[in-house]
Amino acid sequence: MRHESLLLFLLPAHLLLTRLIPTSREMASSFTRLISGRNTAVLLASLGAGTMATGFLLSENSSLAAEAKKKLYPPSSDYPDLRKHNNCMASALTPAIYAKLRDKLTPNNWTLDQCIQTGVDNPGHPFIKTVGCVAGDEESYEVFADLFDPVIKDRHNGYDPRTMIHPTDLDSSKLTHGMFDENYVLSSRVRTGRSIRGLSLPPACSRAERREVERVVVTALAGLKGDLAGRYYSLGEMTEQEQQQLIDDHFLFDKPVSPLLTCAFMARDWPDARGIWHNNEKTFLIWVNEEDHTRVISMEKGGNMKRVFERFCRGLKQVEHLIQERGWEFMWNEHLGYILTCPSNLGTGLRAGVHVRLPKLSKDPRFSKILDNLRLQKRGTGGVDTAATGDTFDISNNDRLGKSEVELVQLVVDGVNYLIECEKRLEKGQDIKVPAPIPQFKK
Ligand code: ADP
Ligand code: MG
Repeated sequence: MRHESLLLFLLPAHLLLTRLIPTSREMASSFTRLISGRNTAVLLASLGAGTMATGFLLSENSSLAAEAKKKLYPPSSDYPDLRKHNNCMASALTPAIYAKLRDKLTPNNWTLDQCIQTGVDNPGHPFIKTVGCVAGDEESYEVFADLFDPVIKDRHNGYDPRTMIHPTDLDSSKLTHGMFDENYVLSSRVRTGRSIRGLSLPPACSRAERREVERVVVTALAGLKGDLAGRYYSLGEMTEQEQQQLIDDHFLFDKPVSPLLTCAFMARDWPDARGIWHNNEKTFLIWVNEEDHTRVISMEKGGNMKRVFERFCRGLKQVEHLIQERGWEFMWNEHLGYILTCPSNLGTGLRAGVHVRLPKLSKDPRFSKILDNLRLQKRGTGGVDTAATGDTFDISNNDRLGKSEVELVQLVVDGVNYLIECEKRLEKGQDIKVPAPIPQFKK
């Protein structure tokens, strides 16, 4: 059953039957079972003359039963307590927006409450400001636009998804100065995500849909040639040691322990239909069914971001072509660009980053301000949920939407070169400057 939690209400029968169930008279027989399509609702009404108590079991995601349950209470009594929260959803979700959207459903029966659960359960994150909501399908961004639009604007630097058009540019030849000083940069990586149109996203997908994503993607990837040729490794068929080795080597996503993922229902059925495809060199990798249907990654040791980006663009275009040849397409529209599970990844979905050693700069009180002004984000080298250990950081672009792939990678190249310059100046005992902020869409 989807969304494991089952609610059990023991209510006086008259209350249940008159206020909750319109067809109460027919259902007042001893046992009634109601099933509604994909989202199975199980409704048990049992009336014992002596007890006058009724057991009511329903799955949280059952559209019919959820509908009935909600009518019992006004939206104001369902509004989450967000007073201690620091995420974009909590800033955007007013009681009025909640009231307007609470009872809406996407075509896949996905609700606002399911979108925001991860942000309700995770008031903040120790290392980054989180978004606090996820999409269950492509239509979530439309049906719940009153919430998603302000979240997108907040997270993406003032980008207005109603009026602005997102550019795509995968011409890697435009990148300049893409070779970093390897005394500082240990590895370079560019990743994005892509979703298969017509299938629910990981927070919402059924097992069958998830397996369909895996089938579509893995079949298409078999068509990759030359330096990109490789094979698929299903998580379920890997040994624990093989999996851990891939994680330790930074090739594979972490186990689904992050509450950001689990509270967004993305760890359901783990490891069913999850896996990693990679070429023989492990420089072009595709994650299947983690936070997105696919994550496409180009990476290698050292500082050659130019080569990493070239392989990224070439591989990504081939993957799209192979998927389209089989009659599928990626979720995309001109305002939001490529549609992914987390609003933070809309647009390009691109995170270009390096593992870079900055022992002096990272101890300087101006470090955070410099990163902010350059629109850069810092993570620990073990991924988004790890603190920085020692002097090495994962430094990457903060924005994904409203700027093209080429622009964002160039921003990372210029920004990281600036950080390395600062590090060298500090080594020599010279002073450093906080650069002027890169212009934003707002202000
Ligand atoms: P993503 O944004 O791709 O989901 P995460 O922060 O979740 O990134 O990290 C996923 C994995 O990718 C982690 O193992 C992390 O160490 C690795 N990784 C990220 N950036 C780099 C990089 N520049 N070089 C090497 N590994 C990296
Ligand atoms: Mg991640």
